[in-house]
Amino acid sequence: MLTALWSACWFGRAVRCQLPPHSTGKHHGLLAETEPYAALWLRWDEGGTAEAVTLPDCPVPPLVTDADACCLYSGHPERHTWDVAAYSEETSCTS
Ligand SMILES: [Zn+2]
Ligand SMILES: [Zn+2]
Repeated sequence: MLTALWSACWFGRAVRCQLPPHSTGKHHGLLAETEPYAALWLRWDEGGTAEAVTLPDCPVPPLVTDADACCLYSGHPERHTWDVAAYSEETSCTS
């Protein structure tokens, strides 16, 4: 089940969705860190419609003080990347 969801989270085999496995909503793949507190994301849906958008970084701090900040954008669905139990593999902000 999780594997199937992950495989849907690719755009053109080039950009991987950074969100945890999800079955609704749009996928978001990080393209580039463009500003100190914002980044360029590729946002697409199952129909293949994609757009590049600049989104502010997620402002929610980790519950554990020495953990890395969340890699996602402000207002993202699902869990924060510092909530590692929600992720099937280690998430890197730069991958
Ligand atoms: Zn996705
Ligand atoms: Zn977050």
